[in-house]
Amino acid sequence: MNNINKVTFIGFGLINSSLAQVFKSKSLAKQICAFSRREETRDKITKLNIVDIIYDDVVNSVKNADLIVLGIPVGAMENIISEIASSLKSGAIITDVGSIKKNIMKSILSKLPNDVYFVPGHPIAGTENSGPEAGFAELFKGRWCILTPDKNTSKIALETVKFIWQEAGMQVAIMDAEYHDRVLAITSHIPHLVAFSIVGTVTELEDQLKTEVIKYSAGGFRDFTRIAASDPIMWRDVFLNNSDAVLEMLGRFIEDLTALQKSIRWQDGESLEKLFTKTREIRKSIISEEQD
Ligand code: NAP
Repeated sequence: MNNINKVTFIGFGLINSSLAQVFKSKSLAKQICAFSRREETRDKITKLNIVDIIYDDVVNSVKNADLIVLGIPVGAMENIISEIASSLKSGAIITDVGSIKKNIMKSILSKLPNDVYFVPGHPIAGTENSGPEAGFAELFKGRWCILTPDKNTSKIALETVKFIWQEAGMQVAIMDAEYHDRVLAITSHIPHLVAFSIVGTVTELEDQLKTEVIKYSAGGFRDFTRIAASDPIMWRDVFLNNSDAVLEMLGRFIEDLTALQKSIRWQDGESLEKLFTKTREIRKSIISEEQD
């Protein structure tokens, strides 16, 4: 693995704050640096006491950095890359933690100089909380991180980024970017969309009913509200940037939902029971893979 003298975290929310804490506890770089655009966030980073230099200027933040980790909403990545591209050190490695991969790769690779190496990544770990104070080093333990290199990705850069995520306690999988986006559409994006939609339905209910829903939320609704409390900007960008895969999976989901509607209308208990038995098995396999 390359020796990392300076690592710069661009954006310092849940994911980058958690990864910076791994860097600190495992001494993975000599100097840990961060850029954040808002003063309020920079003050919060200072309080965490894990970053050596906090920048308010993104261009300065990447000067002489060996490794740059983009931890900002996917819709903001292209502009940031345009700003920093000409200030990157020759041989620097850039990686990102964005939840979608195909669009990011297209927009970032077209802007980077040839002597800078990009390794697209996505740690499949998270909570509904945001900001530097939400981060914790254990967030990644036992989870999967997906890297989506293409045929031109530098092998050394790939190994470096793989090593970092393994140090964070993750298992690393290599996947094609488009395939990643389809897998995540069904495992993450559609479930979030369903949660946003159900919780959104409640906001439309008349006041009395809304009060009862909140009071008796433990019946299942509460779990949806946790997911639907996730960062609005991050999720807006996920849906805008993974629209093809999400729309494809949404089509399948709506078909299945309509089939369920029919089973209920026709009092077809057999179909309902068959499906619910199958879904219970999925839960059991997630538990046995220790991904619950
Ligand atoms: P977060 O806690 O909401 O923090 C977002 C960070 O991005 C903040 O530091 C914010 O800076 C910065 N930022 C927002 N808009 C920006 C812009 N236009 N230009 C520059 N900086 C900007 O975010 P997060 O949950 O860590 O997510 C970061 C990335 O990780 C996203 O791409 C997301 O898709 C991916 N991801 C998230 C999860 C999850 O569960 N949360 C899981 C895996 C991957 P200021 O505070 O200074 O505004």
